[in-house]
Amino acid sequence: MENIHELKALLSAPKDIIIISHRNPDGDAIGSSLALYHYLCSFGHAVHVVLPSEYPDVFQWMPGVSECIVFDTEPDRTREVIEHAQLIFCLDFNSLDRIDKVGELIQPLKAKKILIDHHLYPEPFADYMMSDTTASSTAEMVYDFIILMGHKKEIGLATAECIYTGIVTDTGSFKFSTSPKLFRIVAELLELGVDDYRLQDLIFNSLDEKQLRLLGHCLNNRMEILPEYRTGIIALTKEDYEDFEIVRGETEGIVNYLLKMRDITLAAFITEQPNIVKLSLRSKGDFSVQDIARKHFKGGGHRNASGGFSFQPLKATLRKFKELLPEYKESLNQY
Ligand code: 5GP
Ligand code: MN
Repeated sequence: MENIHELKALLSAPKDIIIISHRNPDGDAIGSSLALYHYLCSFGHAVHVVLPSEYPDVFQWMPGVSECIVFDTEPDRTREVIEHAQLIFCLDFNSLDRIDKVGELIQPLKAKKILIDHHLYPEPFADYMMSDTTASSTAEMVYDFIILMGHKKEIGLATAECIYTGIVTDTGSFKFSTSPKLFRIVAELLELGVDDYRLQDLIFNSLDEKQLRLLGHCLNNRMEILPEYRTGIIALTKEDYEDFEIVRGETEGIVNYLLKMRDITLAAFITEQPNIVKLSLRSKGDFSVQDIARKHFKGGGHRNASGGFSFQPLKATLRKFKELLPEYKESLNQY
């Protein structure tokens, strides 16, 4: 990060700070935000974590999570803390439209903004940018940030647990975006007392019966395989959402099952939401879903994990997605 000395000076006296992460926060959004929250609190800053929408129940155990302010449920309180902020950290998102209304609220403010993020093509909306598209997770970058500030010794157990959560969720339990550096960091987190077995149990063995049956329904009744394009699709309708009483976060990870097939390179999980159709895309190897999400579905993300949306109905969106595949046939078959 350029101007790290300036930022160090800003943080040398207690400040009112907010940390913002993206809509529909995942383990990395919450893990990185709460890790930074605990770190900054330990230096006497007054810190608030702001989320545009509610976090999934599976993260209820995380230290500090109940302190998060959710714009959807507490818009007035959110406005109040945002107005008081002297510094604004933006974590795990690369453009203000990823935080909806909260983006409009912070854009005109004079408070300095600091971006810490690992998504491709970050937009230059922040005063300080820490962008590393090779990082496994924003949580890994929060660790890097603390090191950069010269505070390795100040990392407490709560910070370590939150960093671990961001890393373990964004790497699919150390399956992708790993590096020797990442494993060294994780080793240090364990040395600080993180109980990795307990945390993985809390995070990944948390489904209820209904969710496991929903997974079965997706694989048995809603999956379509297009062998010619090495592509798998799972599409859920509004009725599926009603029948299975699906709530936020409960479909997390279903898209990855498609990639368990040897001959699949591209996976799409397409869901009918109240106002939009949401696409969750995954790929193997060099095939970039970021390209498809950005060019055709107003989205983005990473090479092997991206998302986007469409204002067209589910059927039309599915048709559009399938009609794109011939264009990518050659690269899909190169894997
Ligand atoms: P997921 O499929 O798990 O929702 O998201 C996968 C990746 O794509 C995440 O890094 C997420 O930030 C990004 N992503 C998901 N939806 C969108 C979207 O609508 N717009 C953009 N720019 N990125 C998205
Ligand atoms: Mn992330």
